[in-house]
Amino acid sequence: MTRPPSHARAVIVGGGVAGCSVAYHLTKLGWTDVVLLERKRLTSGTTWHAAGLIAQLRASKNMTRLAKYSQELYSELEAETGIATGFRRCGSITMALTEARREEVLRQASMARAFGVEVEEITDTEVKALYPHVNTEGMTAAVHLPLDGQGDPANIALAMAKGARQRGAKVFENTNVTGIRTDKGRVTGVTWEAGGDTGTITCDTLVNCAGMWARDFGAMAGVNVPLQACEHFYIVSESIPGLTQLPVLRVPDECAYYKEDAGKLLLGAFEPVAKPWGPIPEEFEFDQLPEDFDHFEPILEQAVERMPMLAKAGIHTFFNGPESFTPDDAYHLGPVPELDGYYVAAGFNSIGIQSAGGAGMALAHWMDEGLPPFDIGDVDIARMQPFQKNRHYLRTRASETLGLLYADHYPYRQKATARGVRRSPLHEHLKAHGAVFGELAGWERANWFAGPGQERTYHYNWGRQNWFENQAAEHRAIREGVGLYDMSSFGKIRVDGPGAEAFLNYVAGGDMSVPVGKIVYTQLLNAKGGIEADVTITRLSETSYLIVTPAATVVRDLAWLKRHTGNNLVVLSDMTAAEAVICVMGPKSRDLMRTVSPADWSNEAFPFGWAKEVEIGFGLARAHRVTYVGELGWELYVSTDQAAHVFETLVEAGADHDLKLCGLHMMDSCRIEKGFRHFGHDITGEDHVLEAGLGFAVKAAKPGFIGRDAVLRKKEAGLASRLLQFQLQDPEPMLFHAEPILRNGEVVSYVTSGNYGHTLGASIGLGYVPCAGETAPEVLASSYEIEVAGVRVAATPSLKPLYDPKSERVRV
Ligand SMILES: Cc1cc2nc3c(=O)[nH]c(=O)nc-3n(C[C@H](O)[C@H](O)[C@H](O)COP(=O)(O)OP(=O)(O)OC[C@H]3O[C@@H](n4cnc5c(N)ncnc54)[C@H](O)[C@@H]3O)c2cc1C
Repeated sequence: MTRPPSHARAVIVGGGVAGCSVAYHLTKLGWTDVVLLERKRLTSGTTWHAAGLIAQLRASKNMTRLAKYSQELYSELEAETGIATGFRRCGSITMALTEARREEVLRQASMARAFGVEVEEITDTEVKALYPHVNTEGMTAAVHLPLDGQGDPANIALAMAKGARQRGAKVFENTNVTGIRTDKGRVTGVTWEAGGDTGTITCDTLVNCAGMWARDFGAMAGVNVPLQACEHFYIVSESIPGLTQLPVLRVPDECAYYKEDAGKLLLGAFEPVAKPWGPIPEEFEFDQLPEDFDHFEPILEQAVERMPMLAKAGIHTFFNGPESFTPDDAYHLGPVPELDGYYVAAGFNSIGIQSAGGAGMALAHWMDEGLPPFDIGDVDIARMQPFQKNRHYLRTRASETLGLLYADHYPYRQKATARGVRRSPLHEHLKAHGAVFGELAGWERANWFAGPGQERTYHYNWGRQNWFENQAAEHRAIREGVGLYDMSSFGKIRVDGPGAEAFLNYVAGGDMSVPVGKIVYTQLLNAKGGIEADVTITRLSETSYLIVTPAATVVRDLAWLKRHTGNNLVVLSDMTAAEAVICVMGPKSRDLMRTVSPADWSNEAFPFGWAKEVEIGFGLARAHRVTYVGELGWELYVSTDQAAHVFETLVEAGADHDLKLCGLHMMDSCRIEKGFRHFGHDITGEDHVLEAGLGFAVKAAKPGFIGRDAVLRKKEAGLASRLLQFQLQDPEPMLFHAEPILRNGEVVSYVTSGNYGHTLGASIGLGYVPCAGETAPEVLASSYEIEVAGVRVAATPSLKPLYDPKSERVRV
């Protein structure tokens, strides 16, 4: 047997569809020195037994872009490699059986149009014309995506492996990677074992494509890859006479999908409570798990009604295979925060075949160019929190996430399992006052407060949910009186050391050479002028700063900062859990602060954009005069041991000021009225800071910061698009996310974030509008509509915040 070489530019671990795709795409970019190591035979993990559905539409534009890319690639692979991939554009139908699902599929169809995916709503008769065997009883709506496809998963992977080999990659089967070599925070090589032989490959980069093994494989090098294998089921009928090619049919309300396969019918399930599986036996290779008919039976019972021919056909195969699921149903891609040169493509949540082509392409570009080709924050491995590798957590959460793929995707839907891991020091206090919690990055956060006697739970739908009036009342308190909300989940990164100022001047667009106590709102930019983080940075002393960032991005931000420290003498520390953040906001916040603290809270002594230490009750806090809700107010950073005391002091004094406890749904409603951007939605690594309308925060005159050249170039060339704020002219429809934006009747873009503006009295959305060569008045002069579940609603555009455009309320 040929032995693996002693060095490679990239070593890929795992020869499933993901590993083969990464090898294929790296070699396409000219990386010939690529080695793929597979412990058994190619595809022998999960890939060989996938059902082979290849859809194009995902929940966001870029995930759709990647899925579309896969689909287009697979249609060409056979011609390139000579391997029959079985790829067919058979189309797909999704059938809704409830009113809520009807709204969901119609909204999805609107979204598909915004993302350039062909889709049409079809009637009962049209469903029957495309799929004569289906019983359409109870159908409330259906959509048809004519270009969706299906294929042979193993051959798709093998074709990509062949394509990679043809361009110089070396693939070794029956070669188990047994160890990772590292030096000074960088991966330097792997050790392998093959049939008693062992060896080492030194390498510049390593890609963990180990499928359901990826968590434990990652742990070998201290790398966090949270995923869990679950049993995943389908049955295949006996041959059905006369059955010819059909579209894929999804009936999510019955947790089922159907695929015609060589004259047989495959019925797959996404049952609400899944079965986590493991440990994985050492010898696992092209294996399946024992059948569990009792578990599958409820799905089959409904399926027989839906597809009567199944009752007669008989079951040829009962298949149960393991697949990995992640805590948020999104896969893991990109460089890991823990180790330089180490990348991941794993955790595909039952859509690995349709995702692998795009994921491999995006990762190869990321490895080659240092940045992904466009924003892929939805799947960036750095969104995961360290605790999420906990195995009890993963098993519990994965039992839910499998079924969620076919559950109603209501806005604001919260996960039900594995909750309560991270809590603010105020958690019990907030709970006692009626808080209803949501979860983000493991944090329990008060999203809204139930009134006395009101049920403390979400009732989801696509309109105004049961907390709408609570949000409205909290919103009014912030706009007219004073409200308090807990933002302890904010990520807090301390930057300490003699090099702190120079370092932050290099990584941030703003000017960090400011006096102690000054708060700078700024962005960390990439070399293209895209926004990697949207933060405030407060100078705490000559040599230390505090970066405050969203809860979900602190791991990613720390990784970005670490990668760019260069020779600056700095220490970076995650201080998130060290301080609670109590936000006191509203025109009457000053009055309240005066009753609990002897500090001078006047505008002159404590202007906007400054922080200082204050006494509150018997304790101490650092008050930051900033706002995300667009009102006068302070964020109080309080050592966690004193947080409860400060809270109690504020609430007690607040009784005389009608202080209202508020949740984060209020915060989002207030911020969208003010046009404040939401990182990850409105602004991402692919959005240029000037097009995002944040040029005011960039000090282009400052020399030598990352992204400066791109900012100067854009100034010269002019904006290709602009982020606009929209208000629906009809107060009824709700905007959530991804609704298409039409300009003069043509779809030009989509809503990046939306919420109801309770002061403005209608739904508000943000979205980019292409505008190359146009002036701002020209952009605004057009007529705009936003499509909500297939209905076009007139919208008023604005480049200035629709609420308090001059920020007069903030600076009083
Ligand atoms: C029943 C079922 C139906 C499915 N249907 C669909 C579908 O219709 N459409 C779709 O898109 N997806 C579907 N999927 C999901 C899809 O099969 C997976 O997402 C995909 O195959 C995952 O590919 P992978 O490369 O990440 O993992 P794998 O195929 O498991 O590959 C990982 C490889 O890594 C190797 N490995 C692990 N550790 C080491 C080591 N230390 N050294 C060397 N090699 C190692 C393993 O042997 C394995 O071959 C389905 C899955 C199941 C179970």
